[in-house]
Amino acid sequence: MPARLPLPPSLYADTAVAPVATPPLDMDKNVSVAIIGGGYTGLSTALHLAEQGVEALVLEAQEPGWGASGNNGGHTNPGLKHDPDQIEADFGADLGRRMIEFSYGTTNFTHDLIRRYQIPCEARQNGTLRAAYNATSAAAIETTAQQCIRRGMPVTYLNREQLREMTGTDRYIGAMLDARGGDLHPLSYARGLARAAISAGAKVHGETQALSLRRDGSRWRIETPRAVVHADKVLLATNGFTDDLWPALRRTIVPVFSSITATAPLSDAVARAIMPTRSVLYESGHITVYYRIDQHNRLLMGGRGPMRWIKSPYDVAYLMRYAERLWPQLKGVAWTHGWNSRLAITGDHYPHVHEPAEGILISLGCNGRGVALATAMGAQLARRLIGGAKAEIDMPITGIKPIPMHAFWPVGVTTAVITGRIRDRLGM
Ligand SMILES: Cc1cc2nc3c(=O)[nH]c(=O)nc-3n(C[C@H](O)[C@H](O)[C@H](O)COP(=O)(O)OP(=O)(O)OC[C@H]3O[C@@H](n4cnc5c(N)ncnc54)[C@H](O)[C@@H]3O)c2cc1C
Repeated sequence: MPARLPLPPSLYADTAVAPVATPPLDMDKNVSVAIIGGGYTGLSTALHLAEQGVEALVLEAQEPGWGASGNNGGHTNPGLKHDPDQIEADFGADLGRRMIEFSYGTTNFTHDLIRRYQIPCEARQNGTLRAAYNATSAAAIETTAQQCIRRGMPVTYLNREQLREMTGTDRYIGAMLDARGGDLHPLSYARGLARAAISAGAKVHGETQALSLRRDGSRWRIETPRAVVHADKVLLATNGFTDDLWPALRRTIVPVFSSITATAPLSDAVARAIMPTRSVLYESGHITVYYRIDQHNRLLMGGRGPMRWIKSPYDVAYLMRYAERLWPQLKGVAWTHGWNSRLAITGDHYPHVHEPAEGILISLGCNGRGVALATAMGAQLARRLIGGAKAEIDMPITGIKPIPMHAFWPVGVTTAVITGRIRDRLGM
């Protein structure tokens, strides 16, 4: 049996609230719903099932939040990658409108959930900036902002002067500010979700990898290292760590590493000069950089990095150099942590929900927006698992379509990320 993998060496691992006990499963179980994967998708679904009195059992190979959920940028971003008009064009007026309402509502949903369960995770809702440093991106962002404003959303388009005030740098020429965005401590949030799910009645087992999944009469049989689970329904929520439990599933996503580096707490004066309103920011462009100042005045800066596990800020030295270019006053500050994890990118950049067989539900591919989106998806998935109609789910339920040429990943991905071509190849 493989030894449990430690958490990546992140700032979060050093500062998160203590985990709730999630002992390995050591007895065979019969349950209504088994959930494979203990990130936000799996944990939020378990919580929403348990809230309705449905027995849910989460099987997590490592520990809750070990994957992207405990290691991400911590931005709660409203919306999907695509513009509202594009979503309606792709999915029609009815489903398109519901997808827009749902996805732009995910941050309020998440911050409300955090308040309702009093999850201690440093959550704030100070807005998200999607910022451009070139004219093409600025024009595209202005179009997005107009589409949002037309739909009555709390969105504004900011010009260069306003952005200088909001970011302390001259870099950006235009940005969209969505007041519903915010940030949180990702691992504390994942652990808080696990605690909330357990207190609502769900069972969560760490160090319990699902080794195989197969039909057994009218039910499903999941083998784990020490015990077997029989379930009426199964949710697969393994995202960027998707393995071969379900045929061809791993070929529907590209598991891409994203990296983050963090400073020691900055002086009040420096931290006030950088993002004084404590909005979070992500850049629009070929190579996406995202950052925020946390509640302890640390700058957390994320972006592309090596397509392998990293351990130190020096593995992503370019992010440090980039930060110093944006704010020269950072020269000489200590960078204390560098880490990464894997997220799932889909070919069309929409999150994917599949139902490849009776009783099997799959949700993956939040494409770098899963903090709020995966949380809110949990409520939708729970509704479907309880027997809600397909039409009640505000996301399309689609067939499993492997990405062509997938066998050439990750070499192709690495090259494409480095050259910026991934945007064209995958629509990033
Ligand atoms: C570095 C980084 C920065 C990011 N920044 C942001 C951000 O700022 N804002 C945002 O919205 N999104 C961000 N994201 C994306 C976001 O973190 C993800 O979309 C979200 O966490 C996905 O949650 P999940 O539950 O679907 O997957 P995960 O959290 O990855 O969970 C999947 C889990 O499945 C488990 N698993 C896999 N196989 C098995 C098995 N066979 N048996 C049992 N368990 C299994 C894994 O151990 C893992 O814990 C970022 C991602 C990364 C990597």
